[in-house]
Amino acid sequence: MNTQDHNLNMSRILTEYNIRPTTIRKNIAGLLFDGTDRHVSVDDVIEMAHAANVKTSVASVYNTLNRFALAGLLRRVSVDLGRMFFDTNLSEHHHFYYENEGRLEDIPHGLIKVSGLPKLPKGRAVKSINVMVWL
Ligand SMILES: [Zn+2]
Repeated sequence: MNTQDHNLNMSRILTEYNIRPTTIRKNIAGLLFDGTDRHVSVDDVIEMAHAANVKTSVASVYNTLNRFALAGLLRRVSVDLGRMFFDTNLSEHHHFYYENEGRLEDIPHGLIKVSGLPKLPKGRAVKSINVMVWL
């Protein structure tokens, strides 16, 4: 795919999610959405942008990733207070967390069975269960 087609494609994806396709958003989307499932931090995306000669700033990357997550184009995965990842895999799944390496790896949804949940509060239903296995 040439650069112009790739740009059009990113515009289409962003518009589909009701995100105005500004240059910085198209550039960041172009770095993230190449068909590979990935978990990225703000720092990872800044590094990817530098490697691809995309001009950006910490604030732009932070705002763009959060805008994408709010629109449902990325999923936020919080490991602890200081570590947030953005996941391009929007399907239901779980994670291995490699603590020493600071990285996540997907566990397919069907591989973990959760049992023994306590009785749910009245009027509530389970929306999703996300298991993180720390390694
Ligand atoms: Zn994931």
